[in-house]
Amino acid sequence: MSVSMQQKSLVISGMHCASCANIISRKLKKLDGVATCEVNFGTEKAAITFDAKKVSVAQMNDEIGQLGYSLEDSVPHTGHDMKGGMSSDKKIQAQKIAELAKLKRHVLIVLPFIVVSIFVMTWEVGAEQLGIFPMMSQAVADFFHHVLPLFAIYALFVVGAPFLQGVLRFAKHRVANMDTLVGIGTLVAFLYSFVLSAFELLLAPYLDTAHSYYDVTIVVIGFITLGKYLEARSKLKTGEAIEKLLNLQAKSAVVLRNGEQVEVPIEAVVVGDIVIVKPGQKIPTDGEITFGTSAIDESMITGESLPVDKKVGDKVIGATLNKQGSLQVRTSTVGSESVLAQIITMVENAQGSKAPIEKLADQISAVFVPIVLALAFIVLFAWIGIGSQFMPFSQALPLGIVSFVGILVIACPCAMGLATPTAVIVGVGKAAQNGILIKNAESLEKLQSVNFMVLDKTGTITRGEPEITDIFSSGEHSQDEVLRILASLEQHSEHPLALAVVEQARAKNVALSDVTAFSAIEGKGLQGSIKEKKYFAGNLKLVAELGLVADEEVVYAFAEQGKTPVIVMDSKQVLGYVAIADTIKSEAPAVITKLHEQGIKVALLTGDNKKTAQYIANQAGIDRVIAEVLPADKARQVALLQSEGLTVAMVGDGINDAPALATADVGIAMGTGTDVAIESAGITLLGGDLTKLTRATKVAKLTMKTVKQNLFWAFFYNIVGIPIAAGVLYPSFGILLNPAIAGAAMAFSSVSVVLNALRLKRMKI
Ligand code: ADP
Ligand code: MG
Repeated sequence: MSVSMQQKSLVISGMHCASCANIISRKLKKLDGVATCEVNFGTEKAAITFDAKKVSVAQMNDEIGQLGYSLEDSVPHTGHDMKGGMSSDKKIQAQKIAELAKLKRHVLIVLPFIVVSIFVMTWEVGAEQLGIFPMMSQAVADFFHHVLPLFAIYALFVVGAPFLQGVLRFAKHRVANMDTLVGIGTLVAFLYSFVLSAFELLLAPYLDTAHSYYDVTIVVIGFITLGKYLEARSKLKTGEAIEKLLNLQAKSAVVLRNGEQVEVPIEAVVVGDIVIVKPGQKIPTDGEITFGTSAIDESMITGESLPVDKKVGDKVIGATLNKQGSLQVRTSTVGSESVLAQIITMVENAQGSKAPIEKLADQISAVFVPIVLALAFIVLFAWIGIGSQFMPFSQALPLGIVSFVGILVIACPCAMGLATPTAVIVGVGKAAQNGILIKNAESLEKLQSVNFMVLDKTGTITRGEPEITDIFSSGEHSQDEVLRILASLEQHSEHPLALAVVEQARAKNVALSDVTAFSAIEGKGLQGSIKEKKYFAGNLKLVAELGLVADEEVVYAFAEQGKTPVIVMDSKQVLGYVAIADTIKSEAPAVITKLHEQGIKVALLTGDNKKTAQYIANQAGIDRVIAEVLPADKARQVALLQSEGLTVAMVGDGINDAPALATADVGIAMGTGTDVAIESAGITLLGGDLTKLTRATKVAKLTMKTVKQNLFWAFFYNIVGIPIAAGVLYPSFGILLNPAIAGAAMAFSSVSVVLNALRLKRMKI
């Protein structure tokens, strides 16, 4: 990729339907310098990679400007635009609200027109075809015949202006979207009626001049506008999760400047500032506690309801709540680098990403509009040409017009375009509120089909707080000596075992020696020199590698109790054994049971001793144990499972397990809340609570179920509606889809799709 290649997320306005998204992405891709372009109708954003030397955002804007759309750069979340000012997000929100108000006005005006039109339609059908109502008196009929055209003019030319623009756009640029379909349909119905009324006397001998289609124009435009209004209103609600996150940000902070406490706006806080947080206050920025202890409510970030105890040296997250003590916190990140800003960006990106399942819907809706347009004309001419052999022309023409309008209206692929993004937006937002961060829609879709989960042991199944339980010495050295040697070596290691050993040695006041030539031996242990003498510590693999012999009875005795045996050696012999126990998380057995209920089998993957792993697995009810695996082989083990035909999720800590996470169909990282963007993982669970695992699978399953329901209904409307509108039922049953009903059905289908997605919000996960 050349240096001038850029990737941007641009905000698009002026889209009315999924085919608009298609039109825009096709137009932009044609531009020289645009490499990829994905437009999402749900979030109204475009992800574009382009060569900044060849093309600018302004040029792209011009290109689609001719078609009535516009785009602009979206600004990343910095402390600044979270706080106020007209950030691009706020501006878009304001635009959307203004658009909604306009739609609402239109709806309020056309609603009475719809009522009158339906009243007239029903009366006419009831009187003329069913004979259940008395015929309208001439005066009443005349009255309606004069009022309806007026209503229709207002409906078509004022409320229906966007649809007419769609027709114009089609005439000028040959691009058709859903507005074009509705526009052509209603315009034809209107013009036909207009010609009838204008030349009533002249046409009376040839056509049925008593029946015009002003009512169709009114009802179709009315219902579709009503649908758009309800859809836009609900769509605003689907994005509420982001708004809630934005509102979490503190507005100001009290910082220590020259020994004095001053309150400053949040964007004036810089890295290194000491902020003062009183009990009951929000912690304004990410940082490290430098003074005080407290219980902190992190539920808004991690979704975990129990407050977490923190002391000096512990990390805190901006936007969480200090419940008890007075704290001083040294700021570590601000603005777009902060945990909260990263979460927001991640959620937004995920909401804007495309699920694989959506690609099909996109492809269909791209070809749908032109095909439907052609079909509508074919059917119209068929009625006139073939229909008029069986009935008088004066009857065939209006039926042809009704079919024509009906097809155009029912065939709008609007619900199809909304089906996936609305559900994904709600699902991803809901997950985020529970401390489950989903990187993209693809991960969500994959997670739903996972049937095998591989769990890392330390820190995933176990609490990751190991404790020394036994120390054995093999003679020469005392137990304290063995511990001193081990702890001295472990001071230099990052391994969870190391942290435990060092902490406990300190607690026992063991004096640690200086170590030189330290190195970690991956998956086996470590080595280092104390006073020029080489020492080693690790597992049986390391013992074998050194050509020594360990007392296997001691080792297995530890392992069978679920403890990790650490063997301490010099280059000639084993000096002693230390048993380290890490307890399983209390929720682990219940989580495994739930995974089983969801049809997911579970394996434990670890570098630890087989027997230790087996003990832990038994405690948690895990099906399979893959133990004594070197870190480099973990990814291969995952690939091996995949080759058995399993869809595998790997759950690990995201640091040591990165290759395995990346190899799995879905990588799930257990974060601590302070490390948000875990590159190799598709899904990050904030906080160590394992129940998030089953909640994540549940969100994925519910979201994808909603997507499938939505797609089914969206296609169903079109597949059933089009033939009926075309008149396939007319010859045998005399049934033809009334365009007014088609309009209502169309509006209902988009609204039902959005409402169905919103249902996800209330589901328990
Ligand atoms: P895990 O799957 O638990 O993350 P690792 O690959 O990190 O396993 O380590 C595998 C095994 O290597 C550990 O169970 C332990 O026996 C040994 N080991 C690794 N690092 C150390 C260390 N710093 N101190 C003692 N033993 C270690
Ligand atoms: Mg590990």
